[in-house]
Amino acid sequence: MAKHEEKSKRQDFNCCAVMEESAMRARERRAKRKQKPMPWIVLKLAVGMTIGIVAYTFYVYIGRLCVPMIRKDQGALGGRATGIGFLVVFCVLGLIMLWAYEKVVLTSPGLARDFVEKTPEPLVNNFVPAWWDSQRDLTGMPYQYTGQSEQRHSDSTAAEPQTSNGNYANGDVEAGMTDAIPAAAQAHVATYGAPAPQINVSPRKGPQNTRRVPETPVLRPENRYCYKEGFVKPFRAHHCAACGTCVLRYDHHCPWIGQCVGARNYKFFVIFVEWAVLFCSWTFATLVADQAKSGHVDPEKIVIIVLSAFFIFFTSSLLVSHTRLIMLNTTTVESIRASSVRDRDNRVLARMYPWWAYGDKRRTRKQWDQEWGRIDHEGNLWWLGSSRANWESVMGAHVWQWFLPIGQSPDDGVSYKPNPRHDSEGRWRPRREWPAELQ
Ligand SMILES: [Zn+2]
Ligand SMILES: [Zn+2]
Repeated sequence: MAKHEEKSKRQDFNCCAVMEESAMRARERRAKRKQKPMPWIVLKLAVGMTIGIVAYTFYVYIGRLCVPMIRKDQGALGGRATGIGFLVVFCVLGLIMLWAYEKVVLTSPGLARDFVEKTPEPLVNNFVPAWWDSQRDLTGMPYQYTGQSEQRHSDSTAAEPQTSNGNYANGDVEAGMTDAIPAAAQAHVATYGAPAPQINVSPRKGPQNTRRVPETPVLRPENRYCYKEGFVKPFRAHHCAACGTCVLRYDHHCPWIGQCVGARNYKFFVIFVEWAVLFCSWTFATLVADQAKSGHVDPEKIVIIVLSAFFIFFTSSLLVSHTRLIMLNTTTVESIRASSVRDRDNRVLARMYPWWAYGDKRRTRKQWDQEWGRIDHEGNLWWLGSSRANWESVMGAHVWQWFLPIGQSPDDGVSYKPNPRHDSEGRWRPRREWPAELQ
C-alpha cells in the first residue's frame, strides 16, 4: 500500500505518466483477453440474432403483405393471384437461403489439428523476416542491388548451409505478409533473446530496376509452425484467435455464422451470400412498391425495408469480393501479400519517375510483368492457371453446384499444390527460372 502511494505521489508530477500507465494496463488486459478464444455463447450469439431477424421478416412479409392481398383487403398492393405469387417467390428464396445458412453454420471449415500431428517447436530458425531489418528501407533510399556479401550469421544451430552471398542491402519490407512470420520471429526472440540470424536468402542477380518480390520462404515448416497449438500448419491454414484453433484455408472469422469461413464451408458461404442477395432484393423491392402505393406508413414494413437495404449492401459487396478472390484462388488473408507487392511496385515507380509520367510507369509495369508474370496470377502461390480452374476448385465443375448447397466442396483443405512458378519454399521466381513448359 505504502509502495503504491509512493508511486502515485511520484506520478502526480506528471499526469501524462499516469495516463500512459493506465493505457498500458488496459492494453495488457486486452491482450490477455485476446489470447483466450471467445466463449461459445458469444461466438454463436449472432447466429441466434440472424435467425431472429429472418423470422421477423417472414412474419411481417407474409402477415402484413401477402395475407391482406390473398384476403383481398382494401388498400392491398394486388389481388389474390399476386399475393400467392409473392408468397411463393418469397418462401422459395427464403427457404433456400436458410438451407444454405444451415449448411454454412453446421459445416466445419476444417480444423488443422484433425489433420496434423503435434511436433516440437522448430529449433532451426535461421530465417529473419526481412522486415526485421527493414529500417533502412524506410529511409527513402531507392532499392538497390549491391551484390555485397553480408556475413551476419553467427548462430551455430543453423543446419542449412550459408548462402547469403548476395543479399539485397536494403532488406525486404514484409510486414503483413502472413501471420506466421511475426509469430516465428517473436518466438525466436523469446527463446533466444535475439532475432534469428539471416542466412539462405536466395541470391539473385538481376537488373536494378525490377520488381522486388517477397523473399519470405513461407512454405518452410518453421514459418508454418503454430506456437499456440504446437504443430506445423498445413498449407494455407491460419490460426483464428476467436475460435482458438487453426483453420484450413482460413479466409476470415465470420460472426454472422459463429465460426470461421475456411476450406470446407467456403462454398456454402458463397451460396448463402448469393441467396441472401436475392432474398433481400426481392423483399426490399416488393415492400417499397407496397409502401409507395398504399400511401400509409406501416412502421413494421419500414423496419424490414431498412434492414433489407442494409443487408443488400452488405451481402452484395461480400459476393463481389469473394467471387473475385475465388477466381484468383486467394483468400482474404493471402491477398494482403499481393497488395503489398503492388504497393512496393508503386513506391519504386514513384522514385523512378515524376508523378505525371503515367505512360512510363505503365510501360515499366508491363516490362516487370514480362519478367515476373502478373502479381495476382503467376505471382500467386496458389493460382491454378485460369479463373475457371480456380473457381471450380472451390465451387465444383457443374453450374448447379454453384447455386445449391448440396454435396461438399471439392476443396478438402489439405491437398494444395504450390504454383510451379515459385520455388519449393514458396518464393516467387522470375520467368527465366520457371519450368520449361511454362515459359
Ligand atoms: Zn493454431
Ligand atoms: Zn474463427
